[in-house]
Amino acid sequence: MGQLPLVLSVLLDEAKRVWGQAPPSWEPCRVEPDELRAAEREAMEGAQFDRLGLKRGVWEAYRAGTARLVCKRLGPLARVVCLLPKGIAEPPWELWARIFAWFGRAADGRPWRVTWFAAPSPRRFPSVGQDLGPEHVNGGYTRPCSTHGIFIYREEEATRVLIHELLHAACLDEQGPAWSIPLREAQIETWAELILVALKSKGSAAAAKRLWTAQSHWVADTNWKARTMNNTQDITDYGWRYLCGREQMYARLGVSLPAPRAAAASVNGSLRFTTPLLEK
Ligand SMILES: [Zn+2]
Repeated sequence: MGQLPLVLSVLLDEAKRVWGQAPPSWEPCRVEPDELRAAEREAMEGAQFDRLGLKRGVWEAYRAGTARLVCKRLGPLARVVCLLPKGIAEPPWELWARIFAWFGRAADGRPWRVTWFAAPSPRRFPSVGQDLGPEHVNGGYTRPCSTHGIFIYREEEATRVLIHELLHAACLDEQGPAWSIPLREAQIETWAELILVALKSKGSAAAAKRLWTAQSHWVADTNWKARTMNNTQDITDYGWRYLCGREQMYARLGVSLPAPRAAAASVNGSLRFTTPLLEK
């Protein structure tokens, strides 16, 4: 196992700092009527990326009494409303507190607002030959440079999606004509994955090496499969922005990826962006 990439060791120092501080504490909160109205509106109308209607399914479960509502507030930093179908656990609150501590206060001073529709619907590769669309890869969205709200709609990889959307919300997208939307997405996703590895490692270099080794193989293998079995060749293919586009962004950061392991990759149906080790 080689050295940790430089960018990751810098992020690890920041993670160590965040984990070394007294933990911010979560308090239960009451869901306000306007928050519920916003959740319902998103569940019913926001289907541009959520083509499977995952949000709507969770909202209907809530209305039918089979999904529970949990609301927590992290001082002035964040407010999180979860809609949890039966059997789905609450988010890893301690880790989420560190994520909000990492990002700090929003520019407008308002708390980051998150609504999580925890649909138990994992990302899966479609049949060989089928193009990848939003229904296969997306799991959340927000408005850039805004505390308007982050909406996450899968249980799987909710923490990775939270970091990805916070990067958008905190106005950290690259600007300028050289940065098309797919390039910006690929870059945001790459940072989200590196920050997730650093935070999950709690500043430990040994843990970061273990997680990065697993994650770098996962990226190489998933991209190989997307490219060879599901037509994800270049920037004009929808899945490129979250998958193969990461290769360019890792290369820019001086991070090399291992060779894909075709035999294992071809039989892995999971279209997670990150190794399941990062979910634990
Ligand atoms: Zn994005």
